[in-house]
Amino acid sequence: MNEDFLRTKLQERLDAESFRSLRLGDGVDLCSNDYLGIVKNDLIKTAEKGQEKLHGSTGSRLISGNYELIEETEKNIAAFHKAGAGLMFSSGYDANLGLLASVPQRGDTIIYDQLSHASVRDGLRLSMARSFAFAHNDLDDLDKKIKRAAGRIFVVTESVFSMDGDMAPLAGISALCEKHDALLIVDEAHATGVVGEKGEGLVQHLGLEDKCFARVHTFGKALGGHGAIIAGSLVLRDYLVNFSRPFIYTTAVPAATVLATAAAYALFPLMHKERSVLNFLTALFKEQAAGCMLCDSQTPIQGVIIPGNEKVRAAAASLQANGLDVRAILYPTVPKGSERLRVVLHAFNTEEEVLRLTSLLKTL
Ligand code: PMP
Repeated sequence: MNEDFLRTKLQERLDAESFRSLRLGDGVDLCSNDYLGIVKNDLIKTAEKGQEKLHGSTGSRLISGNYELIEETEKNIAAFHKAGAGLMFSSGYDANLGLLASVPQRGDTIIYDQLSHASVRDGLRLSMARSFAFAHNDLDDLDKKIKRAAGRIFVVTESVFSMDGDMAPLAGISALCEKHDALLIVDEAHATGVVGEKGEGLVQHLGLEDKCFARVHTFGKALGGHGAIIAGSLVLRDYLVNFSRPFIYTTAVPAATVLATAAAYALFPLMHKERSVLNFLTALFKEQAAGCMLCDSQTPIQGVIIPGNEKVRAAAASLQANGLDVRAILYPTVPKGSERLRVVLHAFNTEEEVLRLTSLLKTL
């Protein structure tokens, strides 16, 4: 079989120093999304809950894959997020894809933050609506773009940005949406569990839940599981059940996943100490790494900019050789010139680990 066409593309990546390969992590975890340590400390205990068939939902939700536990859990999570209803998806990727590809119609416009996650961008590609980006976190540019939009207008942003760790100016964005009658969609992947008194996310922390058309909360980050929920109205839920293809044409998540999700949501309100340790370590890192080129972030995601794929890779390798599992984020995942070490802090990291990291960063 001639696979040279694949080799050519891979060679291009090698030449650009952007070839991706899978590696097994070791050393101090400074890269995972397990912000609160739910996975590391094995806090999800579901086995005792018992009677459910843990594995195998046997079909899609519309055929044989629906069950009481999943519906009840959706209601409980929607209530936690002060939403009218919720619908689970197999992943955050599927949720963004399923929402954006089905809800905005031909003739509508989707305006999205330029740094939006790949799952948002892929949803836009599948959508019949027109879409264009607004400059990152830039309210003036968003205002301009909204004024140029046609049809029903959807505005999409992340509450905490996955690569930069900064927060969207949600109060301003929501005010603009209200002024122009646009529908606001917020991806809360990196805020869920981390931001807010009970880990409810940035939208609720700011009291903006009633201003959002839809919120996407993912379960693969602080929750320590996988899957996602779209929180919105009951009408939106009915619509997604009828029109969202990543929901309709896939096997429902099994009870084991749902039980793990419910268990993690039950832990969130109790994890004040973990959230305050996270805040403390974040402040310590920022103070100690002040000489580095840092992204402007107040969250546990801290980007250290080291332009150039080759350079940032070497920097990550050097930290890894010193026992710190920090990963490099390369172009084309981030724009050229903003290649970075993406440091992720966790409630289980220690002050000593942070200081070790910052002193090594100074030697790079
Ligand atoms: N949105 C954002 C902002 C993310 O960072 C991610 C995960 N990288 C996703 C969506 C996708 O979520 P999942 O991993 O559950 O597919």
